[in-house]
Amino acid sequence: MLPVIALVGRPNVGKSTLFNRLTKSRDALVANYAGLTRDRKYGEAEIDGKKMILVDTGGITGGEEGIDAAMAQQSMQAIEEADFVLFLVDCRDGLTPADEMIAEQLRNRSKPTLLVANKVDGVNPDIALAPFYELGIGELFPTTATHGRGVRSLMQRVADGLPEQAAADEEEDEATGVKIAIVGRPNVGKSTLVNRLLGEERVVVYDQPGTTRDSVYINYDRDGKPYTLIDTAGIRRRKNIKESVEKFSIVKTLQAVEDANVVVLVIDAREGLVDQDMHLMGSVIQAGRALVVALNKWDGLEADHRDFVKTELERRLRFVDFADIHFISALHGTGVGHLYESIEAAYQSATDKLSTNHLTRILQWAVSEHQPPLVHGHRIKLRYAHAGGQNPPVIVIHGNQTEKVPSHYVRYLEKTFRKALELHGTPVKIEFRTGD
Ligand code: GDP
Ligand code: GDP
Repeated sequence: MLPVIALVGRPNVGKSTLFNRLTKSRDALVANYAGLTRDRKYGEAEIDGKKMILVDTGGITGGEEGIDAAMAQQSMQAIEEADFVLFLVDCRDGLTPADEMIAEQLRNRSKPTLLVANKVDGVNPDIALAPFYELGIGELFPTTATHGRGVRSLMQRVADGLPEQAAADEEEDEATGVKIAIVGRPNVGKSTLVNRLLGEERVVVYDQPGTTRDSVYINYDRDGKPYTLIDTAGIRRRKNIKESVEKFSIVKTLQAVEDANVVVLVIDAREGLVDQDMHLMGSVIQAGRALVVALNKWDGLEADHRDFVKTELERRLRFVDFADIHFISALHGTGVGHLYESIEAAYQSATDKLSTNHLTRILQWAVSEHQPPLVHGHRIKLRYAHAGGQNPPVIVIHGNQTEKVPSHYVRYLEKTFRKALELHGTPVKIEFRTGD
């Protein structure tokens, strides 16, 4: 399970600056999918090979009322779900009453917390930092988020406090089978779909004691093959009516996506595509997961409504044209069985072993069909390719001046590899190395 780091502090102290700096390198995959919106409040960072989910809680001051209180509530949930809290304060403003109120809230939650004294540029640290020690919040790290100063040692400290992350284990994968995460906004029909997918199958539920941020993992066999459903709606844990409304947690969804092989993104056809659907889609692509889209509640829709939804999908989902879209009714079971065909196909594509020979031949063909551009009169040379990982497939291309390859050419290569390898239902990540 990916650890969660929450950035907390009043408005304007530099949270989103720090957030952007830490998540930037992880956005590379998303950059290849024009049209993809990302939720700038949630992102992934990687420090020392340890991956983590970062949450920018927006600004809280500790004494909100009205609409602000509702937003603060969301921030508090993020803190609740976090493994680590980075509490940002502003060296230029010094210690403010709002900082003190936030500190008070954090003390009550006893989460591991680091105090980040940002904007230390242009102030005398000895004088500026002193008041913050009064807050009595653990260690203090002076930073300049805009230039990255101090950020490395801060994040090193975070990484040191996180457990080692085991790489995916093939033997374990064989036992659990394909891991399928069912994700989507509240009320789109996830629980109904989970029940349908399980159907009559013999189900062994590991009902782990959990918190709101844990999904339920359900192991089962279908036609003699093992699968694991990652149920983000948590139906199996709901014991009574009061609990029947899901407590939606984006953190939980992101963790499920990261842990899955294939994600089934459930969308409510009656509502159409909304921003949050697009954000979730962005997270699936960013994580590099294989994707199947399920347009649910297709039952009982008028013909012109169906046409409208299909046109919308074609227009807005052009960038995920690799993913299968199913029009289903989880309630009646219509079309649900066919999801497995797409799940299997996507899983195969995402985990195929790709040989250096084959990849290099495709690369050479692609280059001969359509040369890379000239840079200052020198042509970019792409020599050979090999596999660099699975789920998502990573194709590593070696050559000269590879850092100059323009994004349209990266997209061209991606399309060519996808077609030649008959990859289906999975993003593909192209990486470049200069030299041999
Ligand atoms: P947030 O509201 O906490 O997310 O704050 P932002 O990240 O939006 O930053 C607010 C302003 O402070 C922006 O104009 C940033 O450029 C600026 N800022 C952020 N970090 C630093 C820093 O380390 N030094 C200085 N001088 N300005 C900073
Ligand atoms: P979740 O919050 O995503 O787990 O959504 P639920 O599975 O709890 O479903 C939310 C509501 O939508 C419930 O009232 C379901 O009965 C209803 N629902 C789910 N799937 C369908 C469907 O395919 N068609 C229709 N008409 N209603 C559905």
